[in-house]
Amino acid sequence: MSFSELGLRSELVNAVAAKGYETPSPIQARAIPAILEGRDVLGGAQTGTGKTAAFGLPLLQTLAASEFKTKRPRALVLTPTRELAAQVHESLQDYGKGLNMRSIVIFGGVGFNPQITACRRGLDIIVATPGRLLDLINRGEVHLSAIEILVLDEADRMLDMGFINDIKKILKTVPDKRQNLFFSATYSKDVKRLADSILNNPVEVEVAARNATADLSLIHI
Ligand code: AMP
Repeated sequence: MSFSELGLRSELVNAVAAKGYETPSPIQARAIPAILEGRDVLGGAQTGTGKTAAFGLPLLQTLAASEFKTKRPRALVLTPTRELAAQVHESLQDYGKGLNMRSIVIFGGVGFNPQITACRRGLDIIVATPGRLLDLINRGEVHLSAIEILVLDEADRMLDMGFINDIKKILKTVPDKRQNLFFSATYSKDVKRLADSILNNPVEVEVAARNATADLSLIHI
């Protein structure tokens, strides 16, 4: 199985080749076709399984495929920490470098102005931690009315960190009709409840990582 056999366009196939990825990891092989079909996905996956590309590649392809032009963001990725937000954003930039997408990473603890300036300029993708994003929404600087794809990355950690109310407030500002991709390493009652409230008839994709820094070469489909 190759990345092009999963249905990805040449710009994305070339970008992952440039990163040195030879074959899709198990979660990529299962999630990418489902996401390209427009399905919601519930992914049980830890960091180290290749989950960022599993949602990032089809997200970029879906945005690049549609003619719809707006200054407002069309995809939102929520992550628990600024480190993960920065890492996901960097990966999306690497994967999407042939596609002319505008993206921004938003997190707290730094000045507002560069984030506000970038939002006003117009963008396609926001990667954000919930607190600062909500702050910018409340200030009228971020409008999520054009969101087509919502990703919750490491949902269990977002709940552990007490982001549930921020997430609920953010969800009130995104359109009802959208694609939802939900990733979590663990599934407590609270995580399941949140997943149920967000997902519509999801494809379930579960992969077992050996540990938090799984060696992808050791995972076989
Ligand atoms: P993630 O689980 O998304 O944090 O990815 C873990 C690491 O695996 C990152 O360093 C990725 O660049 C790398 N990676 C993701 N997909 C693949 C793949 N198909 N082949 C090789 N490495 C990959």
